[in-house]
Amino acid sequence: MLTLTEIPKSHPRYASLVARERVAEGVKKGYTSTQGLIAQGRGECFDYLLGERTTASAAAAIRAGAALLLLAERPAISVNGNVAALVSEEMVALAAALKIPLEVNLFHRSEERVKKIADLLREKGAEDVLGERPDTSVPGLDHARALATRGGIYDADVVLIPLEDGDRCEALLAMGKRVIAIDLNPLSRTAKKATVSIVDNILRAVPQLTEEVRQLSNKPLSDLEKILNEYDNQETLAGAVQEIRDHLDEQFRKGSD
Ligand code: ATP
Repeated sequence: MLTLTEIPKSHPRYASLVARERVAEGVKKGYTSTQGLIAQGRGECFDYLLGERTTASAAAAIRAGAALLLLAERPAISVNGNVAALVSEEMVALAAALKIPLEVNLFHRSEERVKKIADLLREKGAEDVLGERPDTSVPGLDHARALATRGGIYDADVVLIPLEDGDRCEALLAMGKRVIAIDLNPLSRTAKKATVSIVDNILRAVPQLTEEVRQLSNKPLSDLEKILNEYDNQETLAGAVQEIRDHLDEQFRKGSD
């Protein structure tokens, strides 16, 4: 297996191979569960179909997500094993731009993995990391998946849930929260249910989300409300599916030229 430093930048699948190596490294170091490898594979497949780019519909969702985070009274950010392996530094930068903590929230929870991820985030500069001492639970989920922290996701009005499963997304929505998903699959339960679904690779989406947060933070609240009012998540998902179709058509045409 190639290591991160051995993948030549000229390789046509460079970004995707680097991401694969990061998740594999996450498993080796104990941040990421073995199931995380399967989630990565599924994401890679959708990224391939999308053309490995931030599409127009994803860019609109990123902007709406930034507006929603800035309008929130208590925004929260969830970090799982794949997120930690892929974008720990970028998540720290996003939390810093919003001046909020990061919360470790695992599907396959073990106290050891939670601690490893929290330590990694602190090593990357996070000032406030929640999740090591959960003191409550999200209703409607089984015990380990439900664990949450007061002052974090539990009390939040808006939660960013990158690479999340549909059950937890639904449980957070049932608590009355608005949810921003980052998920390459426009057909996943999470993407279909979320308030704002960013159908993009987390590697591209998080730095752009941080940039939007920085840019929009100087705007009046009425501008942010306007962005949200004009945003339609069903239209975004339909846009993502159309962008996949267009990309595939283009690839076929190129192949037959
Ligand atoms: P659901 O329950 O919402 O239908 P699922 O069962 O497919 O989703 P998981 O297997 O937990 O959920 O996978 C999480 C999601 O994360 C998948 O839809 C996958 O496409 C997506 N994903 C994986 N890697 C990335 C990535 N790097 N960037 C964005 N999304 C990703």
